[in-house]
Amino acid sequence: MCGLNVLGVRKRKSFLSIFLDQFKNLLVVLLLVATAISILVGEIIDAILIVAIVLFMAIVSAFQEYRAERILEALKRLGSPKARVIREGRIMEVDASEVVPGDIILLFEGDRVPADARLVEAVDLYVDESLLTGESVPVGKRADIVLPEKTIESDRINMVFTGTYVVRGRGKAIVVATGKNTYLGRIAQLVEEVEEVKTPFQEEMDKLARKIAAIVVLIAATSFLVGYILYEVGIIDLLLSSIALAVAAVPEGLPAIVTIVLSVAAWIMAKRRALVRRLAAVESLGAATVIATDKTGTLTLNRLRVEKLLIGAQPRDIKLESLTDREIPQNVANPVALIAALNNTLVVEKVDNDVKFRGDPLEVALVQMVYKLGYDPLKLRKEYKVVREIPFSSERKRMTVVVQDNSSGKLFVLVKGAPEILLERSTAVYAEEGLVRIDKSISVELLNVFEHYASEGYRLIGLAFKELDRDIDIETIDAEDLEKNLVYLATTCLIDPPRPEVPEAVHKALGAGIRVVMITGDHPATARAIAKMIGLPVRKVLTGVELEEISDEELARIVDEVDIYARVTPEHKARIVRLLRAKGHVVAVTGDGVNDAPALKLADIGVAMGKRGTDVAKEAADIIILDDNFATIVAAIEEGRKAFDNVKRTVLYLLTANTAEVATIFYSALVGIGLLLTAPMLLWINVVTDGFPAAGMAFEEAEPDIMKRRLRGRRRGVLGRDQLIYLLLIGLVFSAATLVAAYFYMPYGIRTARSAAFLALMSLELGLSLSLRRLNSTVFSYSILSNRAWVLGYLAGLALAIIGTGPLASAMKGAVLDPATQLTLLAYGHIIAITVDEVRKRLGLKI
Ligand code: ATP
Repeated sequence: MCGLNVLGVRKRKSFLSIFLDQFKNLLVVLLLVATAISILVGEIIDAILIVAIVLFMAIVSAFQEYRAERILEALKRLGSPKARVIREGRIMEVDASEVVPGDIILLFEGDRVPADARLVEAVDLYVDESLLTGESVPVGKRADIVLPEKTIESDRINMVFTGTYVVRGRGKAIVVATGKNTYLGRIAQLVEEVEEVKTPFQEEMDKLARKIAAIVVLIAATSFLVGYILYEVGIIDLLLSSIALAVAAVPEGLPAIVTIVLSVAAWIMAKRRALVRRLAAVESLGAATVIATDKTGTLTLNRLRVEKLLIGAQPRDIKLESLTDREIPQNVANPVALIAALNNTLVVEKVDNDVKFRGDPLEVALVQMVYKLGYDPLKLRKEYKVVREIPFSSERKRMTVVVQDNSSGKLFVLVKGAPEILLERSTAVYAEEGLVRIDKSISVELLNVFEHYASEGYRLIGLAFKELDRDIDIETIDAEDLEKNLVYLATTCLIDPPRPEVPEAVHKALGAGIRVVMITGDHPATARAIAKMIGLPVRKVLTGVELEEISDEELARIVDEVDIYARVTPEHKARIVRLLRAKGHVVAVTGDGVNDAPALKLADIGVAMGKRGTDVAKEAADIIILDDNFATIVAAIEEGRKAFDNVKRTVLYLLTANTAEVATIFYSALVGIGLLLTAPMLLWINVVTDGFPAAGMAFEEAEPDIMKRRLRGRRRGVLGRDQLIYLLLIGLVFSAATLVAAYFYMPYGIRTARSAAFLALMSLELGLSLSLRRLNSTVFSYSILSNRAWVLGYLAGLALAIIGTGPLASAMKGAVLDPATQLTLLAYGHIIAITVDEVRKRLGLKI
């Protein structure tokens, strides 16, 4: 038994530490000061109540945070590294935690190495071991050497170690140690898990807390002085109203609500196949103004098929369907089949009598073509042996293998890749009359042909080859030398149709004021054709070569007009992201390879592909799109916008109560009519009767216009100028309405007046929760029952408002109100709240 392949010492925040963190909040300190004063002036019940509420909120907030962390953890696990192992002759993908010693693992570029393993095969394999050694230069690995027993780990180049990752090439290795027995497990008891940084919302709430604390101190001091000097109010009464002020101003429910909204959003996004890795990404998604996306596999299906074959220099449009042996000269068909069968990293899987090629869909498509040409790829793979491989990379845009004919011993260099790049390296091409030298005119003609077919939307892959002298040392010969003086053979035209849901998603994104920019390694004409198919307007196309030539300043000038970047490398991607951000855009960028990691990290929202993405890309990303689909990104943005709205509505909702309460208490202290709202009443409103509808609002559906709004500028906070005006406006109206209710019932005594004010304010808030379900459109435009969580929250709030002015009235230092009075005040509050907010909406004062 070796146990699960995990390092075990994952440091996870305990509930207790999260709970204790809640007390680091300035507002909690303020409340505790209020408690101390309550004890001093002998208001023991108030003191107990405040402490109880503080504890209650700390528990609720801590629980929410704890749950949010669990959700994130679960989401991370869903996107956790997999390992490819060979068991019983079959390649299987298993969770990295299930790898055991003795397993044979396959490693490809971008893979996180799942266990310590001895290499048995390594092709141009380079591994980043900086996690272990701090040395960031990738280490070349070899399978074919045996090292002395005592060799230290960092010199064991025939081994790969857990936690490192493959930068280039591929390999096969036998697992020798897993979990805690690995090198990493032994040296590191402290492991990864970057500390979760606060989300911008949370930071904004922290700032708000500081402001509120300052306001409380200021107002308390003013009312203290005014009361003392002008009205000669007793110290005890003044202290009591200071406590009330502190309690009134502190939005006890706020931190928990923000976390609830964000984790609800993360959960819904996960259901829509977007896994959020950091809670902050939920917000950034809502603010995205540019999506910079890959083409292949994200906008297109990546289900490739070779449709046409263009032979040599005088390409006749040969459709694969109509292939007959006669149409393609044998001296072309032979090497074409050879390249397609051997120049790839596919693995052959035999299940019963069925043979399956697994790997890059492009390469699978080329193998399928071999059958159509009348050859058997398996037989070719037996007749020839690959003796050297220079892997594909997005930078090189080509792949080369050297093969040897097992019977004759002849050596051939077989190359496939972007056609114009192969053309540059070719000196001859097949023509009707046989092999001809490539001159300027042939070259121009061929480039036109590529352009022509690419503009029809085909993904083009060129095929070239040459024979090598048998006495050449293939191990040591320079890659450059291998890949020059080639014979350009043929161009394959593959179709890769757009995903059917993409045009609508593009339309939606554009309508929402979000730019969609395509960044692709493919030919510019192919990119243009795909853009047309998916309804993406194209103003400017820039190629990698052109990018190299222009300065950052020049690029910054045109970056807002370029819709396609073609034939680019991942490094270009990072530069584009940087410039877009410098222009004030909030950029979401997709990526899958190792080299995409910098761009993913640089972006506001790094989006890794769940299927195609490498472990490295996933680790660098903020969200993982499980189905690799562009439409899912747009859906996640929609959820982000919804979450933003929901944070806004709950925050504004809770804060209006605070504003109204502070204004009411300040006023009553100023005019010396005694405390209108007592500390228990304030806590009851802030936490209890507001808390439930607010929690319900976290589940509010997206407003219909959510993807029709255009965003302005970078990060918008929840509380901008418009929102502050709103708070002040509504808060003052609510306070006035509360005071009117109090005055009306004053003849029945201060206790009745208090309860009346109390119920009036609760009712105003309940009415507002109804109105705020639409931020800027009329309350009469939706069905009340559409959000069941809200309905429940509202009903709970209503019941608790009645209890607060009924059975619990005397505990709150109020008087029991009779049902008729309760009903009157409830109607009063609802009508005023809804009317005021409705007028605000009609006036077009947006929040
Ligand atoms: P996108 O960036 O939108 O995913 P892409 O797949 O074309 O597009 P890259 O993967 O960077 O981008 O590939 C760049 C170019 O390299 C391709 O357009 C193609 O011409 C060539 N190419 C792609 N895959 C291979 C491969 N396996 N072997 C050889 N050449 C390839």
